[in-house]
Amino acid sequence: QRRFALQAHQETLRGMMRQLEDLAATDELTGLYNRRHFIRRAEAELSRLRAGHRSGLALIDLDYFKRINDQHGHATGDRVLQTFASVARSCLRDDDVLARYGGEEFLICMPNTTLEQVEHVAERIRSMVAEQQIIYDKEGNTLQVTASIGVTSLDPAYSVDDAINKVDEAMYEAKAAGRNLVKVR
Ligand code: GH3
Ligand code: MG
Ligand code: MG
Repeated sequence: QRRFALQAHQETLRGMMRQLEDLAATDELTGLYNRRHFIRRAEAELSRLRAGHRSGLALIDLDYFKRINDQHGHATGDRVLQTFASVARSCLRDDDVLARYGGEEFLICMPNTTLEQVEHVAERIRSMVAEQQIIYDKEGNTLQVTASIGVTSLDPAYSVDDAINKVDEAMYEAKAAGRNLVKVR
C-alpha cells in the first residue's frame, strides 16, 4: 500500500514538473514559445545538423506597431499580437519552432528546410498577415498590420547567435526597403 501511495505521488510530481516546464517555455500573451526556449531548441537543432544539411531561420517584426498601440490602445495591440501568432502558426509544420522573441518580434526555426523553402514560407506568412482584417471595436471596424521578415539558414559552421544577427540584418533591410517585405541573407 505504501508503495502504491509513493508511486501515485511520483506520478503527480512528474505531472506538475511537466506543467512547470511548459509554463517556463511559454509566452503568456500568445501561447507561443518564449525566447529562452527558442534558443534552446535552435541550439539543439544546430548540434543535430551535419555538414551539408541546413535548417531555416526567420525573424519577423511587425511594422509600425507602436502606432497601433497609440491609435487603438494597448489591449488592441495585444490582440494584434495574438492574431499574428495564430496566422503564423497556421503557415507552419508541427516541428517548426515559433517563438515570441520580444515585444512584437518573432522567430521561427524550421528543421530540414532549404533557404528557398524558408523564403517561400516567410512570403506566405507576410501575405497572410497583410490580408488579415482585425476587428478593434464593437462597431466591427477593422485594422490591418504588416510584417517585415528576414530569413537565413542555420549553418553548422556558425552559432545560433551568428544566425540571429544575420536574420536581424535581413529584417532591417526589409524595413529600410519599405516594410511588408521578405529579405534573404
Ligand atoms: P517598425 O516598423 O520600425 O518596427 O516600428 P514599430 O513601431 O513597430 O517599432 P517600435 O520598436 O518603435 O515599437 C514597438 C512597440 O511594441 C513599442 C511597444 O510599446 C510595443 N509593445 C511591446 N510589447 C508589447 C505588448 O506585449 N503588447 C502591446 N500591446 N504592445 C507591445
Ligand atoms: Mg521591434
Ligand atoms: Mg516593429
